[in-house]
Amino acid sequence: MTSIAIVNHERCVGCELCTRACGVTHAISLNLDKNWVEISEDLCWSCGACEKMCPFSAIALPFWAEPNKELRDTIYAQTRKPKKARVAVQNFEQEEDEEDVMAGSRSH
Ligand code: SF4
Ligand code: SF4
Repeated sequence: MTSIAIVNHERCVGCELCTRACGVTHAISLNLDKNWVEISEDLCWSCGACEKMCPFSAIALPFWAEPNKELRDTIYAQTRKPKKARVAVQNFEQEEDEEDVMAGSRSH
């Protein structure tokens, strides 16, 4: 019995957030005609990382599948957290620049 991720095409909006989670095996691809994603049976490792990423609960492993939790959490951490951290650093640097400009304009 196959245990690859399954997409609920009634819920999928084609946002491709799950493809980020699947950045190691690249098992997910967007069907542009349908605007939903599809899973390659040959490439899916059944890790479950895509399931954690989808905001619409549109992709999941079947209930009988046992996800590889260690692999899932490693992939999820690598694909999600660094992006958040970069945004936070960018915002911080931008705020610092704005403060410097304001301080400079006040000193004249
Ligand atoms: S994250 Fe969810 S809604 Fe977005 S493309 Fe993937 S399955 Fe579809
Ligand atoms: S279960 Fe893992 S390997 Fe399979 S489609 Fe989802 S993220 Fe990719």
